[in-house]
Amino acid sequence: MNGWRDKTDFKTRVLEWAAKLGVKTQSLAVRPMRNKWASCSTAGHLNFNAQLLELEREVGEYVIVHELLHFSVPNHGKLWKSLMRAHLGDYERLDERLQRSAEAGENFHVAGGNMDPALKKRRGAGRPSHGSTRHASNSSFSPDSMDASA
Ligand SMILES: [Zn+2]
Repeated sequence: MNGWRDKTDFKTRVLEWAAKLGVKTQSLAVRPMRNKWASCSTAGHLNFNAQLLELEREVGEYVIVHELLHFSVPNHGKLWKSLMRAHLGDYERLDERLQRSAEAGENFHVAGGNMDPALKKRRGAGRPSHGSTRHASNSSFSPDSMDASA
C-alpha cells in the first residue's frame, strides 16, 4: 500500500494541490477529528483528519481535492463533479474506499449541520447513545457530602 510518510508529506501535497487549483490557504492543520475527514472555511482555513495519514495516498488526495474544490464550488453539483473527474479520474471509486475505511474505523458517525455530508461517514447513527443516567434536578443533594467546608 502506498501510504503517507508523515504529516508533513500530507501537508506538502495539500499545498501543491492548492497551488494547482488556485486556492489561497490561510491555515492548514492535520489533527484528529471525530466526525469528518476534512473541513474548510471560506476564509481559507483547512483542517484534515489525522486518520487520513493511515489510509492510502490516493484516498487522501481525494479528500484534499474534494475539499479544495469547495473553495470555488461549495456544493457537489455538476461543476464540482466534472472538476473532480478532471483532476482525479474515477473519484467515486476513491470515495467508496474512504467510506469503507470509515466503517472499519471506530469513532466516525454522521454529525448533522455541516455543509459537507460527503466527507462524513455515511452509516446511520448506529446504536442510540446510551442514556446517561440522569441526575435528579436538585443536584445539590449528594449523600456523602459531609462537611466539605467549601
Ligand atoms: Zn464536499
